[in-house]
Amino acid sequence: MIVGIDLGTTNSAVAWWHDGEAKLIPNALGEFLTPSAVSITDDEEILVGVAARERQTTHPRSTATTFKRLMGSTKPVMLQKTRFLPEDLSSLVLRNLKRDAEVHCGQEVTGAVITVPAYFNDRQRRATRRAGELAGLKVKRLVNEPTAAALAYGIADREDREPFLVFDLGGGTFDVSIVEVFDGIVEVRASAGDNRLGGEDFTDVILNLARSALNLPAAFEDLHLAEQARAAAERTKRALSEGESATFSVLWNGEQHSTQITAAMFDGEAAPLIERLRAPVLRAMSDGNVRADAMSEIVLVGGATRMPLVRRTVTRMFGRFPNTALHPDHAIALGAAVQAGLVERKADLAEVRLTDVCPHSLGIDVMEVDQFGDARTGLFAPIIERNTVLPASRLKHFRTSMPMQPKVQFGIYQGEARNVIANVLLREVDIPVPPQSASTQIDCRFTYDVSGLLEVDVTIPASGETHQLVIYDEDNDDNIEERRAALASLKILPRDQERNRAIIGRAEACFETFLGEKREVAGELLKYFEGVLEGQDPRAIAEAATEVSTQLDQLESERYL
Ligand code: AMP
Repeated sequence: MIVGIDLGTTNSAVAWWHDGEAKLIPNALGEFLTPSAVSITDDEEILVGVAARERQTTHPRSTATTFKRLMGSTKPVMLQKTRFLPEDLSSLVLRNLKRDAEVHCGQEVTGAVITVPAYFNDRQRRATRRAGELAGLKVKRLVNEPTAAALAYGIADREDREPFLVFDLGGGTFDVSIVEVFDGIVEVRASAGDNRLGGEDFTDVILNLARSALNLPAAFEDLHLAEQARAAAERTKRALSEGESATFSVLWNGEQHSTQITAAMFDGEAAPLIERLRAPVLRAMSDGNVRADAMSEIVLVGGATRMPLVRRTVTRMFGRFPNTALHPDHAIALGAAVQAGLVERKADLAEVRLTDVCPHSLGIDVMEVDQFGDARTGLFAPIIERNTVLPASRLKHFRTSMPMQPKVQFGIYQGEARNVIANVLLREVDIPVPPQSASTQIDCRFTYDVSGLLEVDVTIPASGETHQLVIYDEDNDDNIEERRAALASLKILPRDQERNRAIIGRAEACFETFLGEKREVAGELLKYFEGVLEGQDPRAIAEAATEVSTQLDQLESERYL
């Protein structure tokens, strides 16, 4: 079975194509969203999902979240004394989703379609692919998140060329895509975005408002306090999506500090972030050559689009209400499942094909001589331009800069900047050329496929020689089997204990957050539940779990009174 997976910054979700439609798959706790969080316990057991996220405030040094923002980087994340690459952490989340899908569907999951932000560069896409492989999944396809969202909204059923704008504001990334269908082919005409803008930045706005109201320090030295304050800001932000004001409350220096934050205050302070939403929308429309009033549908995805401020902004930008028929956190996984159905060649979707676009320009660095005869090096010569429909193959001719030059050396870059230093270096190339008295012609062909793998062919017509290279991360790809074995040997919390561990984590967080009577209640609940767990009676445990969860709900909700 092939599943569709939305590997999100904050939450992930898995879905499958079943009985002619895309369906979400619940995790061990019966929930459709699994937090993209990993935590390690003192006895080196790995927790993933809710059980891990609940420990973020109480065990920040043992818990990792938002690691999707680091995908593609080789800088390890330390969880206590264990080193993980961001892709290792993602692979643990994927492994949990795989296991949940296998339990729910009663079939082995062999492959997956995984979604990535349209703005992910090659390195980030390759890291995502490796995360899948490390989790024991054959990654059939990486699909851009907005493409998946458009599929979930049934764009494949549209008959005419009807542009469709997908506005995706997640936890850490913002993507705008213009998607359309023509002749049964779904095509992303343009995409733009900001991979440094997301719901978390709006949480920071709340945090800053609370800081100045409560005179809290600008930076919390205590990691626990920082995590607690962040969690409080997140709750306040969500409450502001439902009402006109909400209480921010945090325990600091042994006292509970609370302040009221109104929607008006939040809207005012978030204005610079709202302003940043505009440029990618305009760029996508100009790259795709589509006007706002020609858009047939505006689709909102990503948890942060639930903020009324964001919805009002979109409505104002386009002069009409966006389509919010699907839960904004479910659309991408559902679309990935539609694509998984395509991969499995399900008859009911066989007619639909999909194309994608190149998210960034790809090219090489060249030297140019300016009007004064001075040589300028490190200039970017794009070969495949951004938003070119994939798969694409483009050829460009270059010449060596000096007579008798024995070789050419250049870098392959991804980005938009004129000076290559500001772009991402993918690989350096060093190729011999036959020394000639005049300069030598060099033909460079870039071929880029839908899964983001780049093939570079360099031909020297004078010698007839061709050099081919495929861009992938050698360092990390080499030892993938070894790394898979290392990850597989980690002690993972058994699925049937996930709910109990999440409850313990939550009760511990309440114990740390509250004072006085509430803290006592949290302590009592912890003691009681740990006692029942020791008894190892599954029925008693299940009953206690429900009871303790209800009491924790009450404790947490009273926080706002
Ligand atoms: P995603 O990456 O799509 O899962 O988006 C998660 C982001 O959505 C996080 O920054 C959340 O804080 C934010 N989010 C989720 N629910 C809400 C809500 N009800 N109101 C405001 N923001 C929300």
